[in-house]
Amino acid sequence: MGKLEHVETPVLIVGGGPVGFALALDLAWRGQRSMLVEREAGTALGLLAKATGLHERTIEMCRRWGIAGRVQAAGFPQDFPGDSVYATSLDGYVLGRSAIPSTSEREAPAETPVKRLRCPQYEFDPLLARAVAERSLTDVRYGAAVESLEQDADGVTVTIAEADTGRRYTCRAEYVVACDGAGSTLRRTVGVPFEGEMLDFSLSAMIRIPALDLPKELQGGERYILIGPEGAWAVLVSVDGREIWRLTVVGSQERLNPATFDMDVQIRRALGEGVPYERRSVAPWRRSQCAAATFRVGRVLLAGDSAHTMSPTGGHGLNTGIGDVSDLGWMLTALVEGWGGEGLLHAYDLERRPVAIRNATSATANYHGQVSRNECKHVLDPGSVGQDAREHIGKRLVDSLASEWYTLGIDLGFRYEGSPIIVPDGTPPPPDDPTNYLPTARPGHRAPHAWLADGRSTLDLFGRGFVLLRFGAATEQTGPADDQLQREAERIGMPLSVVDIAEPEIAQAYEQRLVLVRPDGHVAWRDSQAPEDVPGLLDTIRGVSR
Ligand SMILES: Cc1cc2nc3c(=O)[nH]c(=O)nc-3n(C[C@H](O)[C@H](O)[C@H](O)COP(=O)(O)OP(=O)(O)OC[C@H]3O[C@@H](n4cnc5c(N)ncnc54)[C@H](O)[C@@H]3O)c2cc1C
Repeated sequence: MGKLEHVETPVLIVGGGPVGFALALDLAWRGQRSMLVEREAGTALGLLAKATGLHERTIEMCRRWGIAGRVQAAGFPQDFPGDSVYATSLDGYVLGRSAIPSTSEREAPAETPVKRLRCPQYEFDPLLARAVAERSLTDVRYGAAVESLEQDADGVTVTIAEADTGRRYTCRAEYVVACDGAGSTLRRTVGVPFEGEMLDFSLSAMIRIPALDLPKELQGGERYILIGPEGAWAVLVSVDGREIWRLTVVGSQERLNPATFDMDVQIRRALGEGVPYERRSVAPWRRSQCAAATFRVGRVLLAGDSAHTMSPTGGHGLNTGIGDVSDLGWMLTALVEGWGGEGLLHAYDLERRPVAIRNATSATANYHGQVSRNECKHVLDPGSVGQDAREHIGKRLVDSLASEWYTLGIDLGFRYEGSPIIVPDGTPPPPDDPTNYLPTARPGHRAPHAWLADGRSTLDLFGRGFVLLRFGAATEQTGPADDQLQREAERIGMPLSVVDIAEPEIAQAYEQRLVLVRPDGHVAWRDSQAPEDVPGLLDTIRGVSR
């Protein structure tokens, strides 16, 4: 066999799902070249429309990349209602409803400049891919799968095979990021166990319902959770806010075979007899809560579903993957540009793994929040026995599923406790609640959003490099120590800018005179004055060991 063709790249991204393309986009936004290989011939070709819910932190990232408007335009119609309706079927009893306003009826929460949006992955993933192509810094190769990988102290060599041409070649990268999904070849190649539990096997059908003519009490649902005497048996979700829906038959401990399972019976049970529909595809998937034992092996990093899986109850999977990207993008840039140390790679694992486990645990709790078979046995009964059962189940679902629909705490309240590149200030952590988010500039947390006098958000200050925020009197009190931070950063080539903020209410929210914010918008350090050992502080937060 002759010598294989050879290519080189600073960062090789394996997998062109939403997480791979988001990472390529974040790197390109930072001016970094990368290469992305995707096994399939295009983006989002799967039979199943998976994620539809893009949460606040993901949209904050899209806003930074300049694509939030496109996501909004590509997603659901703005006035499509968001309610979760609990019913026996679409021609049956209504048990209850969690009212969730449409995008146009909702204000952005006070804690963020953005609203969460609904956008199916078959729109979102190609939109990310287009934004990557526009920046012309990523060598994207479709129909190219990674076969094997070897790493040494200086880099990683990967063998890539093209399905159509049979061509094989090698790629040498400084860093490789596995974004190759839950079945990750790379994770297995580097020998990382995937730890956790299998929850159940599901089957989902994509269906087109041209005219869903519902009685008034069933209208306004974005999602219908369908309850029978056996408990919750199916979930019908609007995928595009128009006529495409996904019906998922939930909860089998056995693997269901789409070839033999009669999905049409289930569809008719859900919609009612006589409702015209077109079944487009049926696909099986596995619900699990797993996390890679480590998110980093040498120069190979795991991100997205290759690093963690979670039940879709809560819609955290893709959003958690975008959180991985937010952490990795600046770290890889710092390493490639030479101002970051190897400690960043270690920190990535220590920062993101606990967040993934936290989010997955919440998703599993939501899954277990469904009603039990025992509670549901009279749900279809006529008369007062049935009526009482239906009221009880409806109320139970409204209460127990609130943490699935209202997740600002999950989305904005994650923190990088114990990270070696965060300098703790001794203050206690605020409660970590899935629903309620308490803004704080405590080191490790996302620096809070506040509107500046010029109409920008504080979040608009962050992204490209570190930012030293100086508050209130700080501007007049600028001492030699403050200057030293900037001078030292310049000396070591670490991008750091200083922003003076005069607004007293923002100073109050950030609590300290000086707050140093990382490129991902998380607080690295804060204090009333610059530290004695400025080089020591900067080495810590850029992962350089001394
Ligand atoms: C029914 C359902 C509903 C969901 N709803 C939500 C939701 O509302 N919100 C949410 O946040 N998440 C949701 N999720 C989860 C979400 O879809 C996933 O978390 C997300 O797709 C993960 O993205 P990824 O890029 O990490 O992996 P994937 O989307 O799996 O992409 C991996 C890519 O890598 C490619 N690949 C694999 N192996 C190789 C190789 N060797 N070489 C090259 N390429 C390779 C694959 O072809 C694929 O394109 C849902 C999931 C399901 C099943």
